[in-house]
Amino acid sequence: MSYRDVFGEILADHHESPRNYGEIQGAITEEGYNPLCGDKVKMFLKLSENAEHTVEACKFEGEGCSICMASASILTERIQGQPAAKVNELIEAFREKMQGKEDVAGLPADDADDDLVALYGIKRFPVRIKCVLLAWTTLKKAINKVPESAGETA
Ligand code: ZN
Repeated sequence: MSYRDVFGEILADHHESPRNYGEIQGAITEEGYNPLCGDKVKMFLKLSENAEHTVEACKFEGEGCSICMASASILTERIQGQPAAKVNELIEAFREKMQGKEDVAGLPADDADDDLVALYGIKRFPVRIKCVLLAWTTLKKAINKVPESAGETA
């Protein structure tokens, strides 16, 4: 069976044509590594100077399995233009969801037409959950390098 058959069209598409792949000069960076699978990502993040620290740009580079790369692609696409506090909330909610919590607020429903929902299915493969979350936890560390962006909720 091909990757496309197992994980579906959305993840296959993000894996084959990753969005926001590349570096950003002068950005905040953070690197993450998942020893279980060998995935490596480097996140590049540019936040605005205003009080909300809006995401002006976010890109990634790395070498990893198809799930890791597809997840990073979906993440970077999703957070453009979002305030840092909202991104942190999304990351936390998504992590809880992937770790098996039901009814997590702030995420698309299980049957929503949304690329993020394609990642929910990876919960069926517990050893791959870290592949999904690597870009997310790494991005969170990047955001938290800007101290005043971490805890503010509007
Ligand atoms: Zn992986």
